Amino acid sequence: MDLERWLIESVAHHRQWEAGFASFERHPSLEISDETFANAFGEFTKRLEGNYPYFHPHYVGQMLKPPHPAATVGYLAAMLINPNNHSADGGPATTEMEIEAVDKLAEMFGLRAHLGHLTSSGTAANLEALYVARQSHPGKGVAYSEDAHYTHERMCGVLGMAGYPVRTDGYGRIDLNAVADLADSGVIGSLVLTAGSTGLGAVDRIDEAIELKRRFGLRLHVDAAYGGFFSILAGERAGQARQLIDPTPWLAIKECDSIVVDPHKHGLQPYGCGAVLFTDPDVARFYLHDSPYTYYTPSEHHLGEISLECSRGGASAAALWLTLRLLPPTPEGLGAPLAAGLRATRKLAAALDDSSAFAVYQRPELDILAFYPRAPGSLTGIDRASGAVLEAGMSAADTPVFLSVLRVSAGEFGRRHPGIDADADGARLLRSVVMKPEVESEVGTIRRRLEELCGRWRDHIDQG
Ligand SMILES: *Cc1c(COP(=O)(O)O)cnc(C)c1O
Repeated sequence: MDLERWLIESVAHHRQWEAGFASFERHPSLEISDETFANAFGEFTKRLEGNYPYFHPHYVGQMLKPPHPAATVGYLAAMLINPNNHSADGGPATTEMEIEAVDKLAEMFGLRAHLGHLTSSGTAANLEALYVARQSHPGKGVAYSEDAHYTHERMCGVLGMAGYPVRTDGYGRIDLNAVADLADSGVIGSLVLTAGSTGLGAVDRIDEAIELKRRFGLRLHVDAAYGGFFSILAGERAGQARQLIDPTPWLAIKECDSIVVDPHKHGLQPYGCGAVLFTDPDVARFYLHDSPYTYYTPSEHHLGEISLECSRGGASAAALWLTLRLLPPTPEGLGAPLAAGLRATRKLAAALDDSSAFAVYQRPELDILAFYPRAPGSLTGIDRASGAVLEAGMSAADTPVFLSVLRVSAGEFGRRHPGIDADADGARLLRSVVMKPEVESEVGTIRRRLEELCGRWRDHIDQG
C-alpha cells in the first residue's frame, strides 16, 4: 500500500466528513501560517534524525520498529477526530472497534468468554491484572520469575502486595518447584507466568503451572506483553511454522485467569497500545465505580467501567482494528512475519555459533538472541568485548549494525557455560531482538559485519 496516498485520502475523507456539518469560523488564536510552520517543522524534523534506524533490518537491538502503514493510516484518520474510548459517547465508533479488536485477541489465545480492553501500555495492563489478583486474593502475595519484567515488582509495591521473585532454570524459565513451595507455605495467591521474557524471550511452562492452580487455587496471570502474538503459531493451523515453537505452553494460556499482550510490540502498532484480558467476565465487579460526568449515553459498552485508566485514545483502537482487518491473527496473516522473524533468529543463532568469534548464550525460544564474543575467556573480557562490539556496530560509517546488551549474573552465566572464568559478578552480553521479517534475508550480512567488528576489536587489543 502507498502510505502517501492513504494519508492524503485520510485527511480528504476527514474534511468531507466535517463538511457534512454546519460551517463555522476557525478561531484566529489557533491559526499558524505555513511559513511559520515550515520553520518549526524544519527544526523538528532535524531533531528526529537523532533516532536510530529502527526500520532497518540491520537494526536488531531493542524491541523497536515502525508501525505497519495500515496502522499509521488508521491512527491518523481516527486521531483527526480524536475520540476517547473512556466511554461510548466519547468514541462510539472506536469503542465498537476496540471491542472487536479485543475479541480477536481473545480468540487468538483460544478464550471463549472474556472481559478485556486496550490500555496505554503493557505496564498499565499488568497493573490491572495484579489489581484484580489483589482484589480476588486479598492479603496474599504474588510470585514471578527473576527474569520477569521489572514492572511486576514495581506494581506489587504500588498495590501494597508482597512480591516474590523466583529463580529461573537454565533456559530462563521460572522454577515451578520453588513456586509450589511458596504456595504451600500460604504466602502467595497469584503467580505471574511470562510468555516471552523481555531479556531472553524465554517462555515459562504455563502448561505445567496449570497444576499449581488446581492444587493451591493460585490465580494465574500470563504476561505475554512481548510474546503473546506467537500464540498464532501454536495452533494446528500453523502448519510448518508450528515447528518453530513449542506449542504446549501457548495452548495452556486459555486456562489461566488473565493475559497481557502488547499490540505495540508484535502487533505492528504505534506505542500506546497494550491489552489486558480476563477469562472470567465477572471480574468487572472489581472495577465498578460511578463517574457522573461522562456516562450520559445509555449503552452496554462503557469500557471506562472496566478500566483503571480514564482517557484512552480511540485512535489506538482504530489503528489496531484496521491492521487486524488486513493482517488478522492467523498463520497466514500476522503469523507470517512472526514466523519469518523466528526463522531469522534460528539462522542467526546457527551462523554465530558456527563462527569462531561468537557463542550463543542460550538456544533462542522466540526471536530474541543473546550471544557473546568467544575469545576473552573471562566474564570481564566478555563484558568489555560486548560493549566494544555494541559501540563499534552503531558508530560504523559503513554498514552499521545495531545491537543491544543484556546484563547477566555470574551464576546465570556459569550455569550455561561452566568453562568461563568468573572473575566478576556478571557481564554484559550482546542481545538481538529480531522483530522484522526482513532480517531473514540479511542474516549473512549481519554475521559478517559482527565478525569484522569483533576482529577489529581484537586487533585493537593485540596492538594495545
Ligand atoms: C515490554 C514488556 C512489559 C512492559 O510493557 P510496556 O508496554 O513497555 O509498558 C511487561 N512485560 C513484558 C514481558 C514485556 O516485554
